[in-house]
Amino acid sequence: MAFYSGFSFNENPTKKHDSVKPYKIVTKTKLAYLVDSVLELKTVSVKDVDLLNYYASLLKKNNADSVKISEFNLNELSFYSASDEKVLFPLVSLDSIPQTFNLILQNNLLSYYFSPFKGVITSNYGWRDKRIHKGIDIDLNKGDKVSAAFDGKVRFAQKQGGFGNVVILMHPNGLETVYAHLHKIKVKPGDVVLSGQTIGLGGNTGHSRGTHLHFEMRYKGYPLNPATIISFTEHKLQHHTITIKNTKKIVCAFPSNASLHTVTKGQSWNFVAKMYGISAKQLMALNGIDKRYYLKIGQQLRVN
Ligand SMILES: [Zn+2]
Repeated sequence: MAFYSGFSFNENPTKKHDSVKPYKIVTKTKLAYLVDSVLELKTVSVKDVDLLNYYASLLKKNNADSVKISEFNLNELSFYSASDEKVLFPLVSLDSIPQTFNLILQNNLLSYYFSPFKGVITSNYGWRDKRIHKGIDIDLNKGDKVSAAFDGKVRFAQKQGGFGNVVILMHPNGLETVYAHLHKIKVKPGDVVLSGQTIGLGGNTGHSRGTHLHFEMRYKGYPLNPATIISFTEHKLQHHTITIKNTKKIVCAFPSNASLHTVTKGQSWNFVAKMYGISAKQLMALNGIDKRYYLKIGQQLRVN
């Protein structure tokens, strides 16, 4: 899977839904997560324990780091949710999203941005543990108030697998914001909320190590890098308007005043940085990236 400053998909994202593999890869880490989920249950069923033992025995027998388990078998686990993502964000086809367009984030008619929580960023958007971390993690203490980033309407507010207690807000401009791992949810689906309103209390529910807020921004289900939209040190928007680009492989967002560079053959982070008189580190920071990966031809980078 290639990675961009936005989000990348398997070869053909529109095909993703109709070609669900009949099996899932279970790694040792994934198994640990599954066992972890058992710890959250009030009562443990013998069947769940048997199934987990069975997966562990397969890993042991093959002396492998991962094994294929049939989807059907995994669904037998009482708590298993193979696709929290699919449940929460049914993706629309990329063909229905314009190639490039501006989205107003705040003005006198819309609401103004309010920081969901003013804490230290503990994990950025991007590659993490061999998969894409589709949001940004903000450190907080259990019980800290988490606020709506913009005016909106609650689309989802309940416990959902790895997200734990999660609230999803729809905003009038089409963006959605996601607040996960909450200790308590303070809103219900259909509620209209105002920017700055408390929507929940920070916590450590779902697949989370330590209390933090996992915050995502999505457009039509496609995750955007929040760091290219919001300054998490100054707690304000980078620009009132963002430009959303749909390259047919990814959807990504930049502040509307940003100059973009389109990567051509043979260009590296250092190469592009030099062209604009900045360091590779500065270039990566502008694009909200903290881990180097190979640039792709056609990929767009923010350069100012
Ligand atoms: Zn996170």
